[in-house]
Amino acid sequence: MANVCNEGDRFEDLLTCTICLEIFKVPKYLPCLHTFCESCINTYILSAVEKAKNGDRFSCPICRQNVLPKENEDKPEEWARKLPGNHFVMSMLDKRAIQKSEKYCNSCQVNDEKRKALSWCTACEEAFCDACQKYHKSFKMTSKHKIILLKDIQSEGVKHTAFRSDVLL
Ligand SMILES: [Zn+2]
Ligand SMILES: [Zn+2]
Ligand SMILES: [Zn+2]
Ligand SMILES: [Zn+2]
Repeated sequence: MANVCNEGDRFEDLLTCTICLEIFKVPKYLPCLHTFCESCINTYILSAVEKAKNGDRFSCPICRQNVLPKENEDKPEEWARKLPGNHFVMSMLDKRAIQKSEKYCNSCQVNDEKRKALSWCTACEEAFCDACQKYHKSFKMTSKHKIILLKDIQSEGVKHTAFRSDVLL
């Protein structure tokens, strides 16, 4: 992880889906570790299965490695949803959103509300607005969680390690 700060472009590259050329939405990865948005790979799978007569597999759009869905009995419509989520990319997306101050409170989002997040719980790996952070602290189970302010992360740059480092392994 050297010089991450100077590699803003590469950082964006890492988070860009090669199908839609936009920042990942729900990043999912194939066995070859290539990552796509769930909706993009879903569209791709459906058209690939339609073209190939034997519809029990598809190949990676980038490296052409065959992907044989484990649960063969599922319809191709289900394959994309069953692919594992790329947690590394998701945590990078979080960092990016925080840096651009585009991070919204995770608890409020559950209720379809958009409130700007002000803090981050390092134990839950969730962002909170002011009200939800107070709420979080008032629970016995979560009161001991380490909460850091997003503006502290922003000032320290991408290299900040307040996020759990195990997602980087
Ligand atoms: Zn995409
Ligand atoms: Zn691949
Ligand atoms: Zn909230
Ligand atoms: Zn927490």
